[in-house]
Amino acid sequence: MTELIRIENLKKYFPVRKGLLRRVTAHVKAVDGVSFSIGEKETIGLVGESGCGKTTAGRTILKLLDPTGGRIVYRENDITPLNSGQMRPLRKKLQIIFQDPYASLNPRMTVGKIIREGLDIHNIGEKKKRDGMVAEVLEKVGLPRNILDRYPHEFSGGQRQRVGIARALVLNPEFIVCDEAISALDVSIQAQIINLLADLKEEFGIAYLFIAHDLSVVEHISDRVAVMYLGKIVELAKTSELFSNPLHPYTRALLSSVPKPDPTIEHERIVLQGDVPSPIAPPEGCSFHPRCPLAVKGLCDTVEPLTVESDDHQFACHVVEEELGCETENPA
Ligand code: SF4
Repeated sequence: MTELIRIENLKKYFPVRKGLLRRVTAHVKAVDGVSFSIGEKETIGLVGESGCGKTTAGRTILKLLDPTGGRIVYRENDITPLNSGQMRPLRKKLQIIFQDPYASLNPRMTVGKIIREGLDIHNIGEKKKRDGMVAEVLEKVGLPRNILDRYPHEFSGGQRQRVGIARALVLNPEFIVCDEAISALDVSIQAQIINLLADLKEEFGIAYLFIAHDLSVVEHISDRVAVMYLGKIVELAKTSELFSNPLHPYTRALLSSVPKPDPTIEHERIVLQGDVPSPIAPPEGCSFHPRCPLAVKGLCDTVEPLTVESDDHQFACHVVEEELGCETENPA
């Protein structure tokens, strides 16, 4: 598979300021050394609890936020140092669909203007033909062509999210970050939007970074799944492999909380104790150790586990590494 985007040791820290002089007293380490690549037409699911840094990671990859460290490589070009003006020609290729279909659409603009705005900014297509392009893309996302003059408040949540998808799609992107794009929708509408995104991926060859807090949501659409905890990727594998053979204790806990369709099948529920620690002062050693049922005293609370790869399955855990007899290495 041809590589589209590569993220190397990506970091995004937010300063915490205090006092009259607003001095920086600490940093929130929202993304702390994340590395993975996304191939053309590939979907990577990025999951983790609220506050684990997945949304910040998605926005930093698109350079909507400036990275604190690391590199973002798009089609073999390092885009990390580019400023907003230099990023502009790339924006049409790198798009985002936001979580909240209510807040992400300007209530004072018609649906037609919202979707057409990107075409005008990037000067795509002949001016006279742009409304036709908008109508065409509306049809692709399952909305009627005759709603160009209507306003977002006239539509349901699912329909608004389709407008959000159309806004991204009209620019013919190669890569879309779906930032909790279905989390605010009813369950039945969630399935429709996932199917729509999967169909659009097939038709237009788009790659997605599909961000969600629920593992069951990403299973259907993702080729690979990355699990994030406190700013770091703790496990990354092909979707079928991750669901059938989860290695990291955090992934196992997340999977155990996914409801099973057959209530007669018993499964053990792993309940994690406590909350996600503060990213301002993450715990020493493995950041998951205060909540981990397998934590080894004197090791997990002092030494940070490195990312290890075994048969295309990456994870960062001392105990699993020992069980599998892996040799430690840090894959790029
Ligand atoms: Fe648990 Fe230790 Fe593995 Fe971290 S390194 S996940 S604390 S067993």
